[in-house]
Amino acid sequence: MDLYEYQGKQYFARFGIPTSPGALCRSVDEARASADELGYPVVVKAQVKVGGRGKAGGIQLAGDAEEVRRHASRILGMDIKGHVVTRLWIEKASDIAREYYASFTLDRATRLHLCMVSSKGGVDIEEVAVSDPGAIARLHVDPVEKLSAVQAAGLITEAGLEEEARAQAADVLVKLYDCYVQGDCDLAEINPLILTTDGRVLALDAKVTLDDNAAFRHPEWEEFADTEQLDPRERLAKEKGLTYIGLSGSVGIIANGAGLAMSTLDVVNQVGGSAANFLDIGGGASAEVMAAALEVINSDDAVRSILVNVFGGITRVDEVANGVVEALRRVELRSPIVLRLDGTNADKGHEILAGHLSERIMIEETMVGAARRAVALAGGES
Ligand code: GDP
Ligand code: MN
Repeated sequence: MDLYEYQGKQYFARFGIPTSPGALCRSVDEARASADELGYPVVVKAQVKVGGRGKAGGIQLAGDAEEVRRHASRILGMDIKGHVVTRLWIEKASDIAREYYASFTLDRATRLHLCMVSSKGGVDIEEVAVSDPGAIARLHVDPVEKLSAVQAAGLITEAGLEEEARAQAADVLVKLYDCYVQGDCDLAEINPLILTTDGRVLALDAKVTLDDNAAFRHPEWEEFADTEQLDPRERLAKEKGLTYIGLSGSVGIIANGAGLAMSTLDVVNQVGGSAANFLDIGGGASAEVMAAALEVINSDDAVRSILVNVFGGITRVDEVANGVVEALRRVELRSPIVLRLDGTNADKGHEILAGHLSERIMIEETMVGAARRAVALAGGES
C-alpha cells in the first residue's frame, strides 16, 4: 500500500525523522486558514500517489493568503498523470540550501536491504542512476546486523553531502532504517532530503510503500487503508477477507487456489470470453466464504454469468456443495451460475446440488465445458 506524502511524513514523525510542519486540507478555505496558522511563506502541495508533482505544477510556493487561494484553487481538481487532486498538504516553506536523496528498499537479488544516498536529490533519481551512476552511494544492510551509526556516517560521507549536513543526515538515515524495518515498509524514500540555509536537515518529501503482508501486526494502518482509492468491488472483497482482483469482463470467477483461478481465467479467454475478476477462495470453501464471494461478484454490474471452478483436495467437494447451497439461500444472484466440481467427494457434491439445479444453476463436468457454458450465458464471445 502506497501512502500519500502527508501520511508518509506522519509515519516518519513516529520514528523521529524531522519534517516541516503542515496541515492536510480539502478546500481552498481550509488551505488559507491553515496557511494563516502556519505562517508565510508556505508550500501548497498536491497529494497524489504518483511522482513528479513538482514538474506537473502541483507544488507551488505562496507568500500570502491571496497566493494560497490562487494556487489551492488551481491545484484542487488538477489531473496529475490520471490522479485527480482532492487533498492538499500546506507546509511551512523551507529555505533550501541543498537537495539530497536517501532511501531504503529491499534488494531481492542479494536478499539484503539496500540503502541509497545521493547529493544529487530533488530530481528524478532514476535519471541520476542513468546519467551519473557514481553520484549514488549504495550500501547493502544485513537485516540481522542492522545499520550502525558508523555505517550511516560512512555512507553519507561517501555520497559527498556537505560537511554541515553530515551528522544530521546520518542520524536521519538510522531513523529511516528503523522506519523501514520496524514500520514494515517495502520502500522508504526521501527525495529531497534538504539542508536548509539555517543548517537544518529535514525530509521535504516522503514516499512510503507499506508491505501489505505485515498488515496483521499493524492495526494502526487501518487509517491509511480508508484513504486507498480501491475499486468498490475490491473494497467489499477486502472487507470480507477475500483475495480478489477486479477485471473488466463479464464472467465472474470463483476458484479454489491461485493456480486454478489463473487457469480458469485462461480457459475463459480461450473459449472467447472475458473474466470479470480473479477470485481465489483458498483452501476453505465454507458457506461463509462462498456467500461472501458470490456477494462481491453480484455487486459487479458487468457480470452476466458466474463460473465456480473447484477442485477438491483437502477441501472436500461435498462441503463446497453445501457451502454453495447455503450461500444461494443468503444471496439473491442476478446472474446464472455454472459449477464445475471435481476431486475429493465430487459425487457426493453433485448429489447435494442435484435438487437445486435449474436454468440458473447448472453443473458441467469439465472445466472447458463449464467455461463455454458460462461464456455463452454471458452473451457469447467478447
Ligand atoms: P515531487 O515533485 O512529487 O517529488 O514533490 P517534492 O515534494 O519532492 O517537491 C518538488 C520540489 O519542489 C522540491 O524538489 C523542491 O525543489 C520544491 N519544494 C518543495 N517544498 C519546498 C519548500 O518548502 N521550499 C522550496 N524553496 N522549495 C520547495
Ligand atoms: Mn520528491
